[in-house]
Amino acid sequence: MSKKAAGKTAGGAGKAGGAGRSKKYVYFFGDGKADGNRNMKDLLGGKGAGLAEMTNAGLPVPPGFTISTEVCNIYYEEKQKIPAAIDREIDDHVKKLEKAAGATLGSTDNPLLVSVRSGAKFSMPGMMDTILNLGLNDAAVEGLKRRTGNGRFAFDSYRRFIQMFGSVVLEIPKDAFEHEFGAVKKASGAKLDTDLDEKALRDVVFRYKSVVQKKFGKSFPQDPREQLKMARDAVFRSWMNARAIEYRRIYDIPDHIGTAVNVQMMVFGNTGDRSATGVGFTRSPATGAKEFYGEFLINAQGEDVVSGVRTPQPIRELEKVLPKAYKQLREITTRLEKHYKDMQDFEFTIQDERLFMLQTRSGKRTGFAAVVVATDMVAEKLITPKEAVLLVDPESLNQLLAPGFDPDEWQKIPAVTRGLPASPGAASGQAVFSADRAVEWVNQGKQVILVRRETVPDDIHGMFVAQGILTATGGMTSHAAVVGRQMGKPSVVGAGELEINEAAKQFNVKGQSVKEGDFVSFDGLSGEVKLGRVASKPSEILQVVNKTLDPKKSDLFRRFNQLLTWSDKFRRMGIRANADLPDQAELAYAFGARGIGLCRTEHMFFGEGRIPIVQKMILADNEKDRRRALDELLPMQRDDFYGVFKAMHGEAVTIRTIDPPLHEFLPKREDLMVDVARLEATGKTGRQLDEKKKLLARVEQLHEFNPMLGHRGVRLGITYPEITEMQTRAIIEAACRLAKEGVKVMPEIMIPLVGLVKELRDQKAIVNRVAEQTMNAQGVKIKYLVGTMIEVPRGAMTADQIAEEAQFFSFGTNDLTQLTFGFSRDDVGKFLRIYQERKILERDPFASIDVDGVGAIVRTGVQLGRKTRPDLKIGVCGEHGGDPSSIHFFEQVGLDYVSASPYRVPVARLAAAQAALAVKVGD
Ligand code: ADP
Ligand code: MG
Ligand code: MG
Repeated sequence: MSKKAAGKTAGGAGKAGGAGRSKKYVYFFGDGKADGNRNMKDLLGGKGAGLAEMTNAGLPVPPGFTISTEVCNIYYEEKQKIPAAIDREIDDHVKKLEKAAGATLGSTDNPLLVSVRSGAKFSMPGMMDTILNLGLNDAAVEGLKRRTGNGRFAFDSYRRFIQMFGSVVLEIPKDAFEHEFGAVKKASGAKLDTDLDEKALRDVVFRYKSVVQKKFGKSFPQDPREQLKMARDAVFRSWMNARAIEYRRIYDIPDHIGTAVNVQMMVFGNTGDRSATGVGFTRSPATGAKEFYGEFLINAQGEDVVSGVRTPQPIRELEKVLPKAYKQLREITTRLEKHYKDMQDFEFTIQDERLFMLQTRSGKRTGFAAVVVATDMVAEKLITPKEAVLLVDPESLNQLLAPGFDPDEWQKIPAVTRGLPASPGAASGQAVFSADRAVEWVNQGKQVILVRRETVPDDIHGMFVAQGILTATGGMTSHAAVVGRQMGKPSVVGAGELEINEAAKQFNVKGQSVKEGDFVSFDGLSGEVKLGRVASKPSEILQVVNKTLDPKKSDLFRRFNQLLTWSDKFRRMGIRANADLPDQAELAYAFGARGIGLCRTEHMFFGEGRIPIVQKMILADNEKDRRRALDELLPMQRDDFYGVFKAMHGEAVTIRTIDPPLHEFLPKREDLMVDVARLEATGKTGRQLDEKKKLLARVEQLHEFNPMLGHRGVRLGITYPEITEMQTRAIIEAACRLAKEGVKVMPEIMIPLVGLVKELRDQKAIVNRVAEQTMNAQGVKIKYLVGTMIEVPRGAMTADQIAEEAQFFSFGTNDLTQLTFGFSRDDVGKFLRIYQERKILERDPFASIDVDGVGAIVRTGVQLGRKTRPDLKIGVCGEHGGDPSSIHFFEQVGLDYVSASPYRVPVARLAAAQAALAVKVGD
């Protein structure tokens, strides 16, 4: 749903409040039929769409209805009120549900109990809270007992309901309830929750109600219809809680999409030993292996499995205890995987041996698992290569490039304990025991491991910055595990031998004590935990790419390569790399880049022994001295270019002439002043002091108030044409040398920061003249192009004129963003975060292209440029060239290629394929 559509719902709400018939806001599912289906995630949220789809497929799903995401927006637009017409529509659906369920909300003899479940378009683990057993009150609980003959079950359900309702809706801290629960458990000598009998649970209910009375100031609401309204509104409110907002910020999920509310008849996993509740995956979300994967608990409800209160059993065990339900579960989930053509993450409950499906969705997975699942499914003929390409999140490929431990180093330290391998990867860092501390230390440049008994959604900022996450409780589907996998963070959970004392900032394990700041390492693939620091090792993929591992020996590389080879078939845009030096170019080529989109020559000036020569050039106060210094630089640059060309095997190489302001090559003004003062203080005179003084004078002369807007880019080439001359000569000489060796070369000489066609004309004349001379001298002819970077808004807006000279364009979107917004790249950090918090900007425009502003300028530049020169080659070489959502935009505007940093080349290949496929279908 777009912002516009959200706006429309407000109008709809007005109408709904008046005439009441105009629009549908509530969608029923039950008895084999549903109003919705899988394609209605925008309206029903992921959970609601999944429940509808499963119902339509004839799967055993308890009936219910979904209040659409539009109502969430209306709720906020109407100052946290639901219009009466929508209330009536909900009432109608309650009646329909009562009929389907054969029970009545609020009835004493036969009460209908429901769950109230949030569910946005994108799943947000642990962000929203579900309320179970709604509809119970003091009378209904007795009715439930009479009806089932199971008092323990009735009161277990009631105490759960009061606690969930109390914490989520009435916002009473969970501790207050847990404290009472613990007290009753202690008094009755129970070890597990399930050990509590009816009498003890009645006591719990009694205590919970007095907690509510005390903290809420009123008695626990007894009217089920009131309960339902309050719960529904609490779900809507939770959409805007701090955790949810933070989660959306990290994952770039817009606020305006809202959450749906699902109201569903309860089924009970807590009626006794023939009942259970569980969650699972059709394949391993950690490794992608094709194995049925999950956990369950006998005699339990809902969140018990993921909350870590009891340690769940692996799902295989279910086959032994409840074989019929297990078999049915396997059949259904296999069917779901085929139906959705993706690995599924499902939730189920077994009530007295009867299986019910409560949720299905595409399973979150690690980058490893994503690649393994996609390639396996093609091999199984479940999906086509095209579908496989669409199945993998490009960003997740980065995980495959992340380092692991050096096995030799890892072997040296004995494992102190082992936990569940929740998310693969090697993590080593200093132990911290709170999320805030993690952030604080990481800001100080430390690497940390976040150690927690179990994580909660409030820890998300700490999890985000940590090297890895280590917990003592919880299973493979606990919060830490789910979030860890999604973030691609190495995680080991449920390492039960860790006695963690978060308050004292330490843990004990096997008689050893580990304090905050001590080093801890673990392997997220094996689950092993070690004390100390272990050096890591390049990933398998990188080893193959660097030719230290035989590709045949790496199954992972084979799959990675397969997926990217498929991607290459579907993408339209070329993929180049930003690489300045031969070894970077080689790496980029090995990752699949075909061409260099940006070779920054100034980086070559920083090479060993070069800075003094560069400084000599800058200090020269006449052309002759400057040329002498440039002559010294020439062979060095030529050798660099030679290497870069060679590494690209004949693909195009775009070389940018010098760009940064010259002061960047000189010492800092402040440092020089100190040096001069110090030398003067010694009373000595001499060459050193004179040189420093001269340097300082030149630095002061070059000083600029806004260097990024100052004497740089093409402006340098125009004022010091001899620099452009030297660089051209170096490029062409290198190219000639390769041509003589029989190697193909395709140099593209790029002039930066052009805003006026005459700037480019001036430089192009120099390039062509020197190139001609050089080729004549060498006796070789080579083809080369002269083009420009489009990074000044004026350049884009006059692209038709500029294209008269330019043989190619490359959008420099870093500077273009800087100049379009007027945000200095170096200072934006001071306010960007606040802009994002206040939603003035949704995203960092330097990371992901600002489509409306900078994007519009790019679009104009492309159109104007091609008007003059229809075959104009156009690419992008800013940071955005490696960003999937920006790549999607570049596909839309019809760029010829994107250029990304070498490590992002795989991400760009996959993202470009997805963009091409999406744009063909959509636009
Ligand atoms: P989340 O989005 O956090 O997964 P859910 O709405 O899926 O929250 O609810 C969590 C759990 O609550 C489910 O996995 C399920 O075990 C339980 N639950 C939800 N609705 C019902 C229901 N109608 N009957 C029985 N259990 C339910
Ligand atoms: Mg769920
Ligand atoms: Mg630039």
